[in-house]
This record gives sequence, structure tokens and C-alpha cells, in this order.
Amino acid sequence: MKFIFADSLDMIDPSFDFEADRMGEDREKYWGDVYPHEYFPQLPYDGVLVSRGIVGDDVLRGKYPDDLMMRFRRVGARAFLRLERRRFAHMSIFGDCGAFSYVDLDVPPYTPEMMLDFYADGRFTHGCSVDHIIFDFDEHAHGLKGGGASARRRFEITLENGRKFIKCSRSMGRRFTPIGVIQGWSPASMAHAASRLERMGYSYLALGGMVPLNARQIHVCLDAIRARISPRTQLHLLGFAKAEQIHEFQRHRITSFDTTSPLRRAFKDARANYYHLRRDGALDYFTAIRVPHATENTRLKRRAKTSGTDQEQLQVMERVALDTLRRFARRRAPLRQTVEAVVSYGTEFVRDPAMPEAANRATAKAMSAAVQRTLEHRPWEECRCRVCREAGIETIIFRGSNRNKRRGFHNICVYNEYIKRRVQ
Ligand SMILES: [Zn+2]
Repeated sequence: MKFIFADSLDMIDPSFDFEADRMGEDREKYWGDVYPHEYFPQLPYDGVLVSRGIVGDDVLRGKYPDDLMMRFRRVGARAFLRLERRRFAHMSIFGDCGAFSYVDLDVPPYTPEMMLDFYADGRFTHGCSVDHIIFDFDEHAHGLKGGGASARRRFEITLENGRKFIKCSRSMGRRFTPIGVIQGWSPASMAHAASRLERMGYSYLALGGMVPLNARQIHVCLDAIRARISPRTQLHLLGFAKAEQIHEFQRHRITSFDTTSPLRRAFKDARANYYHLRRDGALDYFTAIRVPHATENTRLKRRAKTSGTDQEQLQVMERVALDTLRRFARRRAPLRQTVEAVVSYGTEFVRDPAMPEAANRATAKAMSAAVQRTLEHRPWEECRCRVCREAGIETIIFRGSNRNKRRGFHNICVYNEYIKRRVQ
């Protein structure tokens, strides 16, 4: 099963100075930054997915700044992602529309022809047809029953786009593998769409719109789809948020899936921020240690006003927390003292004077337990990835984009190892 990393300009500055907390000298964004595949000596995934909605254009604003968006369109995905070197020759570059970025529009802002040009110009290896996300889900609807008017309209738009997309891709001489995207409001309607796409000539299908579904519902959809299509037809899972459960999906013969969740969880998850591969091959997670910037954090400033802790005092506490953590990493500070330094500063950030004291005490206790667990296990010492070898304990400190994304890079690397061991 191929692990495709869905990119949205997730890069780090390799020369970031942790002690001084600043970017490398003369660092230029994008040009000086690196992608995970450039940073790690071993490839951390099998391919990259780029959504047109993320890149953006004059039709729809994306996440790329204007100069980079124009560069992407000028040089194409392979050159933009710096995947031109020989060691990347076998990596896939998947493209899709990024249907979430236009979910509120009546019709997709892109035509099949526009997407075909985008994929061909960008030297993509795989390109998805133009889909439109369906919100309804009725697990038990039979055949083409159920589904509101909007769901049915989006269903027809997606299929009609699929038909035009493969027809035009043939006339262009197939410079990439066309993938037909399945959208539906029920397992049966998805199976119906899959079968129609297959008859149009697709041998690679992608299932989209699974974000609101739980794992059991996704299994039901995949069972229904597999029952209607050839065992040789390949399947891709689009934007698969349940990446840690991917091994449970093997029976559906999934060829590939894309996800960002190992990266995102590094700084979006409340607890599971740092991935750790246990000796038995299972994934374990640690909570990152929050040491927010005293001077940059507006929420903290507001709290400081009400708690009476002044800014200077906060900066001292911040410094003490960071210094103690670094001494702990060098085995020069005891565990208890380190936990105390981190938690006394950290609670300034979460303490709410409007809450009863008992509630604040409980928050501090929970924080203390999470910090203690992470520090006790010293997982950054066990990991052999480049992030942990070079940045050590800084990897597990929740603070600013360079540490947080580095931890995301580490998670990608650990996750890739996990699925290579666990999944065929
Ligand atoms: Zn690591």
C-alpha cells in the first residue's frame, strides 16, 4: 500500500537555531526551507499529493503565496516539489482538485479540461477527476434510493466530470494515470458510481468525502464498492484521516491512500503529538511539552494581566523552563525539578481565574502527569530519525512552527516505518 503525503507547503528551516530561537542567517522562505523528502536520507513516503485548491489560482485562492503559486504553475509539480533528483524518480505525484476548498460552491470551479492541463503541465503521475463533495450519508439506503436533491446533483456532476475527464485524457495521449473519483450518499450509491466509472474505462478509482465517516462506515462503503468492481481495479483513499488504522483496511485491497495526519497531529492534537514505534511494531504516542513564547502569546498576555504575573516574570519562567529541559536532556537536571519548571510556566497559560481553584488544580495535575510521562520515557533518545538525532529534546517541545513541524516530520518518518512493517 502506497503512503502518499498530502502536502500544503509543509517545510522546515534546516538551519534553525534552537538556543537563539531564530531562523538561520539569510534564510529565504521556500528556497532555504526543505520538504520531508529532502530532509531525510531515506524516503519518508511513496509519493506526494498536491491539491489544486491548496496551490490556488486566479479562480480560487489557495494557501500558496502569489509568487509560489505562479512558480508552481510555471515549473510544474515535480520541479516545484524538488523531486527531480534521481532518487525521487520512482515517487508518485498525485493531483486532485481539493474539493474541500470549493465545497460551498454550486459547481466545481474547475472543468475537466482545466484539470487535465494542470496535471499534464505539472508532470503529475496520477490525476483525479473533478469531484464535488456530498454531505449526506445514509448507510442503509438501497440502490440509488435516498440522498437529498443536492446530493444527487453533486453525484451526477462528479460522474459527468469523470466521463469527460477520461475521454479528454485519452485524446491527450495519457501522460499520467487518470483516477476516477467516487462520491455518493450511501454505500450502494458509491458502489454504483464506482461501477459506472469502471465502465467508462478507469482502472484506478479514488474514494473521497470520508472525513465525517467513522471507520466502520468506511468499511461498509469499501465492501459495497469492492463487490461491484473488478478485483484488478485499483483503489485510492482520498484524504484518509484515520491513517493510524490503515492496517485494518488491507482486506479491501487498497493500492494507495493520502493523508497529512501524522504531520498535523504534531501540533493539532491535544495529546498524541509525538509518534513512537514500539518494539512490537505498534504505534504509541507522547504529548509534546508546551513552552509557549512569553512575548508572542496574546492569550498568555491576557491571562498574565488577570493573574498578576508580569511580563518580565513570565519571560524568566519561560527561560527557566527551557534551560531546565535542556539540562534534563543532558542528564544535568532531575525529573521532578524539570516537570515543576515546565508546569509552573505552563499553567500560567491555561489557568483560568474565572474557574474554581479545584478545576485549575486538576488542569495542572493533568499537565504535570503528561509532561512527566514524556520526560520519563525520553522517546527522542530512542528514535534514529534525523530530526531527533539533530534536535534532540527540542523535537518534543511544543513551540513555534520550526519545532512543531519538525516533530511532524519525525511523525511522518515513524509512520512510514510503521506501515512498511505492518501493511503489505
Ligand atoms: Zn525522530
